[in-house]
Amino acid sequence: MNKSERFEAIETFKNAYIQKIEEVSGECFSEASLFNQYEALAEIIMEKNGSLWAKTSKQYDEIPHKRVYLFSIEFLIGRLLKAFINSLEIEDIVKTAISELGLDYETILNKEADPGLGNGGLGRLMACFLESSATLGLPFHGNGIHYQHGLFEQKIINGEQVEVADNWLRHGYPFEIRKPNESVIVKFYGDIHYDKIDGVLTFFYENYEPILAVPYDIPIKGYHNKTVNSLRLWSAEPVEDFDLPSFNQGQFMDAVRHKSEAEAITQILYPNDNKFDGKLLRLKQEYFFVSAGLQRIITRYKRYNNKCLDEFSNKICIHINDTHPALCGPEMMRILMDDEGLSWMDAWRITVNSLTFTNHTVLPEALEKWPVDMLKLLLPRIYMIIEEINRQFLDKLRIKYGLNESEIAALAIIQDEQINMANLAVVCSHSVNGVAALHSKILREETFRGYYQIFPERFNSVTNGVTPRRFLINSNTGLRDLIDASIGTEWQSDLFALEELMKYAEDASFMEKYDQIKLTNKIHLADYIKKHNPVTVNPNSIFDIQVKRIHEYKRQLLNALHILDLYNHLKENPQMEIVPHTFIFAGKAAPGYYFAKEIIRLINAIADLVNNDASIKDQIKVVFLANFNVTLGEIIYPAANISEQISTAGKEASGTGNMKFMMNGAITLGTMDGANIEIHEAVGDENIVTFGLSSDEVASFEKSGGYRSFEVFENNARIQKIMQQLIDGTFGNFSHFQSIYDSLLLYNDSYFVLKDFDSYANAQRHINDLYQCPDQWFRMSLSNVAYSGLFSSDRAILDYQKNIWKTL
Ligand SMILES: *Cc1c(COP(=O)(O)O)cnc(C)c1O
Repeated sequence: MNKSERFEAIETFKNAYIQKIEEVSGECFSEASLFNQYEALAEIIMEKNGSLWAKTSKQYDEIPHKRVYLFSIEFLIGRLLKAFINSLEIEDIVKTAISELGLDYETILNKEADPGLGNGGLGRLMACFLESSATLGLPFHGNGIHYQHGLFEQKIINGEQVEVADNWLRHGYPFEIRKPNESVIVKFYGDIHYDKIDGVLTFFYENYEPILAVPYDIPIKGYHNKTVNSLRLWSAEPVEDFDLPSFNQGQFMDAVRHKSEAEAITQILYPNDNKFDGKLLRLKQEYFFVSAGLQRIITRYKRYNNKCLDEFSNKICIHINDTHPALCGPEMMRILMDDEGLSWMDAWRITVNSLTFTNHTVLPEALEKWPVDMLKLLLPRIYMIIEEINRQFLDKLRIKYGLNESEIAALAIIQDEQINMANLAVVCSHSVNGVAALHSKILREETFRGYYQIFPERFNSVTNGVTPRRFLINSNTGLRDLIDASIGTEWQSDLFALEELMKYAEDASFMEKYDQIKLTNKIHLADYIKKHNPVTVNPNSIFDIQVKRIHEYKRQLLNALHILDLYNHLKENPQMEIVPHTFIFAGKAAPGYYFAKEIIRLINAIADLVNNDASIKDQIKVVFLANFNVTLGEIIYPAANISEQISTAGKEASGTGNMKFMMNGAITLGTMDGANIEIHEAVGDENIVTFGLSSDEVASFEKSGGYRSFEVFENNARIQKIMQQLIDGTFGNFSHFQSIYDSLLLYNDSYFVLKDFDSYANAQRHINDLYQCPDQWFRMSLSNVAYSGLFSSDRAILDYQKNIWKTL
């Protein structure tokens, strides 16, 4: 675009924008509110998306390519407006036009709600996969739930987490399109009768409760291309909206009750991360979006394929993201047999060949097990089908594989009057994968060992990835521009090209610019901190950051206890000097997870103690930022020096926060767990700091015993001191932390916090030394950016295509 074209484009945009603001507000441009400014910008952008969206669908219909549907109970998409503007390559025009109109671009963008339709990594992964698929121009779409209320908003009051309902739809959401004429009915409860009709066993479903599933579509725009895919989110509504005058009082109340019972299904996102909470409403949610999604996909497929389903599994892949959508197996069987009249054998072949499954955790408390009675009552036909799948599968184990009864029992789908959803997903899918090399190994050798022995060909591994558009290009513009100016822009679509950056590893002028960008990002975060917390932090200190859901296995407690110990050191040795450190935390605890909430309270108690003690001369500051979400992450990741990835080895399936930090030049301080292992391999031993027990050591202690936390305590005076501080009134108003004390000593420290403490403290000291050599630190940081190519979700999608979905 030359100068006069640019000028022209800016003027055109200004006029369109003024007009749109007046249209949406009914006010003169100068009178319109900030929200009107945002609404108008969103609408202009949605119009641009809309025409590309229509064209993309048409192209997909004309050139049939295998389609993938990602079924997930969570999609944590983050804000969309800036991402759309950048992907359309009009940021310069829009930003300049808005500023020439005397408005502030960033302030307008900040009016957008951040849809919290996920808890953490699992939901965010799906959002990254959708973005990468659209950027690669692939016909992959999402299928999930249109939650009226997403994950709660977290406030910190007196150091404690307080939950506030998230009402993200309060002012409407400009990026979704409701499609009422594509609604379908989902059936719950009722009775099944069967009869032989013309010699064929036929099932009749009666007295069920119908719920209307209405889709809302959100465009997923590819970066710098014309592809727009869809994220389809289903909303529950009563089937018949009632007609007021015709109701007598009793009917009216019934109708109101029916309406709110129907709507309850998609009212709230369950706020648990990595924890099964067997509520009936949750089971309804799972079946609701599975059934609605599959019904629509099969209907559409038939329309374009002469009503013939023979080739379905060659043209469609249904991907089950963790076990929440595992009812895809029996629901697909139901549709193919009861609605489409296929035989069991044909339906089973199509089902297994269409479904693929990704496992996301090996934590036992996360494994979904639904009581048979609950499933039978809510979904009687689905239960019958599960029973039959189980019966046929166990027969096969007995006859074809010659397994004995105890081996068979371990692989059953129905165990102890419960449906084991992971087993159901494995049996119904032709591919099962873990999300990092170690996690996939644990699946093969432990979790799904028996399945691996009979179906080795089903097992795959794909290491997670994150989209560099959201987590580097659009959120770390300083670094983006420096990279563009140094090695060109190819890296934006091929992240492996970042390796070329290594030629600047000894370049002093590059280093100066690079360090300046990190400092600018840290100042930006310091400003945010100042606005939200009563503490001023030094941008020249080491920003050591742990942001993720609060969970015992992620060990925020290890980090917190180390800070307390470091503080004790400084108090005991007034002459001691360290590089100033700012320890930053953020993350939500599940509302019912008492221990995680105590960890938040402890971090805030330590912050209160440390931040207000002048005697340590500002050498350490501690910050807990409230309400971690994607938007806050976009400010935090680019500002980090240290990425805390300190889970108990073997517990974190992959992690994706680790990848976002790495891309932005933070150095990982981590255990050999999840994708940390692959980060270590990619950057080399000298560009990461690892510590702690290995996953084998953890597993061996868990299996054979041999760890006594009390012995560590007895032999370590420093640990004795911090443990004492938890219960001796050190924290004043914050009182005591007895449950933390007890879990570490009385209950033998299940997550090996005390066991790994020394090793972690040594790693921290090592970092303190490394940071004092600026050249070396720069090379370490740059290596992390340069070798982050493997952790792009573009690479992950290519792996899925090649090895799992067979779309390549
Ligand atoms: C990336 C991300 C996560 C996952 O972080 P981990 O460190 O991998 O647990 C969680 N929440 C949000 C908002 C994220 O962006």
